[in-house]
Amino acid sequence: MNNIPDEDVTLPETKKIIYQSSKCKGCYYCIEACKRNAILIANQANSKGYYPISIDQEKCTKCGACYIVCPDYVIEIL
Ligand code: SF4
Ligand code: SF4
Repeated sequence: MNNIPDEDVTLPETKKIIYQSSKCKGCYYCIEACKRNAILIANQANSKGYYPISIDQEKCTKCGACYIVCPDYVIEIL
């Protein structure tokens, strides 16, 4: 008897959510779409003068809702 599993163990794919604050225009559609309340408004304006979003990675489930609704392609899920 040993500890080697019978089959290869495949770990779940780790997804990562990224966003480009400089492209955000502060419409906050993504905040409305996020059921986890994982998106906040940053307290510093970006170069365009908008207050961009900030995503709490701990709360985010990588569901993709914010990515779908963002009209400016700010958010990406890798
Ligand atoms: S939907 Fe896009 S542009 Fe609008 S606040 Fe969210 S990230 Fe910014
Ligand atoms: S991927 Fe889903 S849970 Fe994460 S910030 Fe976007 S809407 Fe919220």
